[in-house]
Amino acid sequence: MAKVVFNEDLCKGCSLCVEVCPVGIIELKSEINKSGFHPATITDMSKCTGCTSCALICPDTCIEIWK
Ligand code: SF4
Ligand code: SF4
Repeated sequence: MAKVVFNEDLCKGCSLCVEVCPVGIIELKSEINKSGFHPATITDMSKCTGCTSCALICPDTCIEIWK
C-alpha cells in the first residue's frame, strides 16, 4: 500500500489533487492551515493505488508518495 504525505502548510487548497485522484480519496479539510487555506488530506489511505497523479499535478509540490 502506498503512503501519501501532504505538507499541509504548503497547500493552497486549489483542489487539483482532489479532482485528479481516480479513487476519490482526497478532500479539503475544514480546518485552515497557517496560510489561511483549507489543506488537502486523504480520507482512506487503504484505497490509494499509488498512481502519483496527485503529486504530479500539485503546483506547490506539497505531496510525497512513498511506496
Ligand atoms: S497516489 Fe493516486 S490514488 Fe493515491 S491519493 Fe494520489 S491520486 Fe489518489
Ligand atoms: S494540488 Fe497541492 S496545493 Fe492544490 S489542494 Fe492539492 S495539495 Fe493543495
